[in-house]
Amino acid sequence: MEFIKKNLEEITQLIKTHTEKVNRSYEDLLLIAVSKTFSVEYIKEAYDYGIKHFAENKAQELRKKAEELKDYEINWHFIGRIQTNKVKYIVPIAEYIHSVYREKEIAEIDKIAKKHNKVQKILIEMNISGEETKGGISKNELEELLKVAENYNNVKIVGLMTMAPYTDNKKIIKNVFCGLKDIRDKYIKLYPDLKELSMGMSNDYLIAIECGSTMLRIGSSIFGKRNYNTGG
Ligand SMILES: *Cc1c(COP(=O)(O)O)cnc(C)c1O
Repeated sequence: MEFIKKNLEEITQLIKTHTEKVNRSYEDLLLIAVSKTFSVEYIKEAYDYGIKHFAENKAQELRKKAEELKDYEINWHFIGRIQTNKVKYIVPIAEYIHSVYREKEIAEIDKIAKKHNKVQKILIEMNISGEETKGGISKNELEELLKVAENYNNVKIVGLMTMAPYTDNKKIIKNVFCGLKDIRDKYIKLYPDLKELSMGMSNDYLIAIECGSTMLRIGSSIFGKRNYNTGG
């Protein structure tokens, strides 16, 4: 699986060149390898290259892989839809949960995190494009959720996450990503922990870098095409 290292070399080089071009620092960007549907052998290959952050979108799959890779120093991220009955599997493993946007999810995460003596870092998923098929809340709903979340001591909101709409139109994608940054910049005054911007996938990460992304979630450009039938 040499291709994984080759892909990572290419991607990290592109990220470096592009961050310089837009006057940002490469160190401010975290590359998260999205390993959903790929076996632990793929993860080990990326790990050997130096990737320490991996993301999964299914609780069971996360659990299984974390168990198989327990001797590796991996920082796990959860990026999938949250089912409250699965939160008990996610919290003990995930350093970050990117896809939170309902109070009942925050309440459940808080409850489980308390049991594990942990403060769970989460990001609020925003639906900037307004597509109905996407999760997340609108800009108008954020203020209230941030306020409500202050009641939960074992949850720390560290940033915002979004996904670009399904389009090739770079201008539309850029509006979404830079829109997320504007929201972050507005609320960080009141909520100084709200630093991270989780945005940018295989097809749009260079645009996300231009808009201030701090966490890139890249899957297929690293590991290849996904086959959902064989996923865990
Ligand atoms: C699958 C997934 C990614 C990675 O997508 P690629 O196009 O393979 O890079 C990023 N973020 C989320 C939330 C995902 O579900």
